[in-house]
Amino acid sequence: MVAFTLGVLGWTLAEYLLHRFLAHHARGKNDFSREHLRHHGRRHYFTPTRRKIATAVPALAAVAALGALLAGAASGLAFTAGFGLMYVAYEVAHRRAHTHPPRGPYGRWLRRHHLHHHFGNPWSNHGVTTPLWDAVFRTLEHPGTIGVPPHLAMPWLVDEGGALRPEHAADYALGRRPIAAKPAVH
Ligand SMILES: [Zn+2]
Ligand SMILES: [Zn+2]
Repeated sequence: MVAFTLGVLGWTLAEYLLHRFLAHHARGKNDFSREHLRHHGRRHYFTPTRRKIATAVPALAAVAALGALLAGAASGLAFTAGFGLMYVAYEVAHRRAHTHPPRGPYGRWLRRHHLHHHFGNPWSNHGVTTPLWDAVFRTLEHPGTIGVPPHLAMPWLVDEGGALRPEHAADYALGRRPIAAKPAVH
């Protein structure tokens, strides 16, 4: 159980580090970074699932092998199970943040936290499922009203005519220009 929990936590750290450094700080110099900047720049772009699986399977096999080597087969596998399940949970939560409206306090928080990263400050809020590592590494920001450029607005935020749905007016506004995903200095 300890190894499984460490695996869950381990994924949340990987989620933070991969997003912050491999995606953003790399500024488009690797495939993952280019895919991620595309996700920022377009209204509805997600890396195709088959490509994610093609990366995730060997990565998880490597985590399992390393875990077994360091902590024995049982603990190594439990760690990998926690890591892998949390990875899948992250994928689902992230996609739904863009495609579906929030249903409860956690979903509302997650969307605001992540969409501030998209539209407010892409150098903040690199964690998606938890604010833990943003707090540890001092990149956590608590947004006020989040300005969303109309051409990038999530389908759940606006009605058929493109107007902001009133139930989200306390959290979001339409119209601010996006901040570049690749600022010149940082
Ligand atoms: Zn996103
Ligand atoms: Zn990002």
